[in-house]
Amino acid sequence: MKQSQLFTKTRKEAPADEVSKNAQLLIRAGFIQKEMAGVYDYLPLGLRVIENIKKIIRQEMNMIGGQEVSLSTLQDPEIWKKTDRWDDTKVDVWFKTKLKNDTELGLGCTHEEPMTRMVSEYVHSYKDLPLYTYQFQTKFRNETRAKSGIMRGREFLMKDMYSFDTTQEGLDAFYEKAISAYKNIYDRAGIGDKTYLTFASGGMFSKFSHEFQTICDAGEDHIFIDESKNMAVNDEVMQDEILQDLGMTRETLVQKKSIEVGNIFKYGTRYTEELGMRFTDEEGNVKTPVTGAYGIGIGRLMGTIVELLSDERGIVWPESVAPFRVHLLSVGNSPEVTFACDTLYEKLKTLGVETLYDDRELRPGEKFADSDLIGIPYRVVVSEKTLAGGVIEVKKRTEEKAEMMSEEEFLRKI
Ligand code: ATP
Ligand code: MG
Repeated sequence: MKQSQLFTKTRKEAPADEVSKNAQLLIRAGFIQKEMAGVYDYLPLGLRVIENIKKIIRQEMNMIGGQEVSLSTLQDPEIWKKTDRWDDTKVDVWFKTKLKNDTELGLGCTHEEPMTRMVSEYVHSYKDLPLYTYQFQTKFRNETRAKSGIMRGREFLMKDMYSFDTTQEGLDAFYEKAISAYKNIYDRAGIGDKTYLTFASGGMFSKFSHEFQTICDAGEDHIFIDESKNMAVNDEVMQDEILQDLGMTRETLVQKKSIEVGNIFKYGTRYTEELGMRFTDEEGNVKTPVTGAYGIGIGRLMGTIVELLSDERGIVWPESVAPFRVHLLSVGNSPEVTFACDTLYEKLKTLGVETLYDDRELRPGEKFADSDLIGIPYRVVVSEKTLAGGVIEVKKRTEEKAEMMSEEEFLRKI
């Protein structure tokens, strides 16, 4: 894409009421726009990052047998009443609205109820199970505090997966697969080294649930880490006998601030029981599927990446999620520079290398500052100087020093 065509522009300042680093940087660089507290729009650059994150997650979910669906945001109160989650005292983040005839509707904050009802239309026998469905879907939550930028939205995109198995053993085995898929996701998104599988309280059907918590000072949570085991617990689990169960001791745990980037949960038969989902087993007995739910906040993951991977000049995107791979800058407006840049841009396009081409007539300093702020992994400069040397200047956003190389060498590398 030519940057002269990109309608967003970088800004020197973020809105005065924006306190979080992730939103400040993303707004200044033109990835997102703030509508109001906890409500953000995604602009062309931001949407490309979201799509890259979705691509990684989709691959990992498909790999463990997930089937993608997309359920409605509008929620039928009937099914939520069956599970006793319609009442505002039971779920305190509901946004509710009404039809013209005064019938109440909800805006989905999670989807256990509608997903269970939907799949129960198709599941009758053990032969229809196991079944793993997931979606990328917009959730609405009337959050009290929304000061963490895109890490806590009142409207946000979530990947939510739901598992339906015939037995507890089936659920347990799938749950382990989900844990490794989640680890792959955080590794591939560039935050794996700071993200811990964290034991949290489990509720009725299992001893523990698990959170994926990323160490970061901007986090709203805190966890207690056992470095030797590469595991952590949250404060619900900080009790001596539970720690002993996990082979941990209080003395060796280190407390750190963290961001919950994902959450997985075994529900057992909690929702299937109440919503009347049943199947017949091999012997013809009527049984209730055993379930789990697996969530990742897409915006929260994007915000976490920005919190962790940025410096005083701007964002430092990992290649896997970056909006473009190469930022091509023409420096100087001579016809030779423009021609060389146009030609290189066409070559990169032909090779399928996603490139943002800064073809604007701006001072070099402005182009360099924008490039650092936007944070594309490879910056390539073509100027009269590089042309004279028969080379181009290549600088990785993660490194301070640029390298001179021939165009062929760069194209081979990239
Ligand atoms: P938290 O404890 O931070 O409020 P939660 O436990 O309510 O989150 P879940 O209901 O488990 O969150 O949702 C699954 C995932 O969705 C979370 O792990 C998080 O990554 C993400 N998420 C939750 N709430 C928000 C939000 N308001 N904005 C963005 N992402 C969110
Ligand atoms: Mg939580």
